[in-house]
Amino acid sequence: MAQDSFTACLECGLLQRIPEVPTGGSAQCVRCGGVMHRNRPDSLNRTLALTIAGLVLFIVANGFPFLAFEMQGRETQTTLITGVIDLYRGGDWPIAAVVLFTSILAPGLQLALLLMVLVPLAMNRTPPWLPVLFRWVRTLVPWGMMDVFMVGILVAVVKLADMASIVPGASLFAFAALIFVLAAAQAALDPDLVWSRVPITGDGTRAPRRGEDRVSCDVCELVIPPAAAVRDGDRLRCPRCRDVLHRRKPQSLQRTWALLIAAVLCYIPANVLPIMSVTSLGSSQSDTIFTGVRFMLDHGMWPLALVIFTASIFVPLLKLLILIFLLVSVQRRSDWRPRQRTRLYRVVEAIGRWSMVDVYVVTILVALVRLGNLASVQAELGAVFFCAVVVLTMLAAMSFDPRLIWDAMEQGHVGDRERTFGASLAGSP
Ligand SMILES: [Zn+2]
Ligand SMILES: [Zn+2]
Repeated sequence: MAQDSFTACLECGLLQRIPEVPTGGSAQCVRCGGVMHRNRPDSLNRTLALTIAGLVLFIVANGFPFLAFEMQGRETQTTLITGVIDLYRGGDWPIAAVVLFTSILAPGLQLALLLMVLVPLAMNRTPPWLPVLFRWVRTLVPWGMMDVFMVGILVAVVKLADMASIVPGASLFAFAALIFVLAAAQAALDPDLVWSRVPITGDGTRAPRRGEDRVSCDVCELVIPPAAAVRDGDRLRCPRCRDVLHRRKPQSLQRTWALLIAAVLCYIPANVLPIMSVTSLGSSQSDTIFTGVRFMLDHGMWPLALVIFTASIFVPLLKLLILIFLLVSVQRRSDWRPRQRTRLYRVVEAIGRWSMVDVYVVTILVALVRLGNLASVQAELGAVFFCAVVVLTMLAAMSFDPRLIWDAMEQGHVGDRERTFGASLAGSP
């Protein structure tokens, strides 16, 4: 398995040899410090068990109401899907679509596809559709936001506590357990192990010769000479996972700028326009994100105010600023602290999804509080723009290629890459 002894770091692009990693240990990139491989004990069996448990919990969590809202003898109950349907009926289909995708479809599909990948592997089979499904599992991971949704539920419950009594439903417990099971399944999964079971077609098993040009797959991390890639029109595909091969993410800077500018344009109405309006005993009142935070502060709910301020105002702004800084620094070919800049990129990728909390709070309030003039909540236009900010900044972070940070420096030291490559190759048997 000569090709497996070399891996290109996904964050800085450096080609290196991953040493034997002890069980439970991990290997880090020598240049940028990114984690390149983790050796998870009994990965496939544990992930399969957790996936099956996750699917059972997913069905329970979606089949029963998760909260009931009681006010003056009247009660409304909410399941995940009725929350989405209420938003859709209220004319807020963009939010309904995002909530449907992130809280139901992405986690559900992720579990179902994972099952379809792991069951054949457990029987020592690799059907031809397996690589495509596993690529989808990896794509869906950042969009499954059940943990963020749970924080949204907690915020909504505290907000409503003075107004009415909130009764947790059976599925709330399944929901909470599912978050832990999903996280455990992701932690147990060793993608390198799955890819090592997928056969490589054609010439792909030949490792690049010393000094020979090579290209690495961003999905399964196979390193091959370009001649060994599968030709598909004018594109090259990976002979293992069939993903399109690129040296760097295509048009990374242009795409990231475009998405970022769109996000900045949406950020303004997201903060100026009301995100929801509350009707209570006939009188109606609208809230922007900021007045919502101030209301919580005035009523002594400062931990909640802090959560919403951080997730909805601070994090989106921080993401925008960091991404703009990274883009400008790459375009100026800066060699300032590449390791720290790569770390900043990791931060942006990790925190982005948490901004969704307020969107979920609005969804849950709309779904729970629907007693007409007595008490009801509607989502307003600001929430649509806010939702757009979160999605656009996540897409912007995904289209930015952190390897560009390092490319600018390598161009200053011609031959450096070849030297590193040669040195690691010389060390191989
Ligand atoms: Zn690296
Ligand atoms: Zn591949």
